[in-house]
Amino acid sequence: MSDCLFCKIVNKEVDTDLVYEDKRVVVFEDINPQAPVHLLIVPKEHKENIMELENEEFDIISHIHEVAVKMAEKYEIAKDGFRLVNNNREKAGQSIFHIHYHLLGGRQLQWPPG
Ligand code: AMP
Ligand code: ZN
Repeated sequence: MSDCLFCKIVNKEVDTDLVYEDKRVVVFEDINPQAPVHLLIVPKEHKENIMELENEEFDIISHIHEVAVKMAEKYEIAKDGFRLVNNNREKAGQSIFHIHYHLLGGRQLQWPPG
């Protein structure tokens, strides 16, 4: 989508350091980190939220989890613990309407979230 920030990052129209990229996803640091490690895992294909996925399109969620585990190991937060968060729509705090998962770690995280 032409006016979507994450599509622009995927298409390299907005310059962002990618910490990982493959055929289906990009990963980069959140601009407003909420933990010592705060990465965003973003599918290349634009969908507003996970409600837009159908049938085999849900395979991307499995792939995102696989990449999250790789990133948790790379950033050395796998052993202590980390959180994978996906906000859907306004009441969950979604502000960018292109599916993304937050990978958070490097500090004690609180539960329940606000
Ligand atoms: P959400 O609120 O779940 O939609 O998450 C959107 C996230 O994108 C927020 O944590 C923002 O800090 C982050 N963000 C917004 N713009 C950028 C950007 N240009 N580069 C990296 N992260 C961004
Ligand atoms: Zn998009």
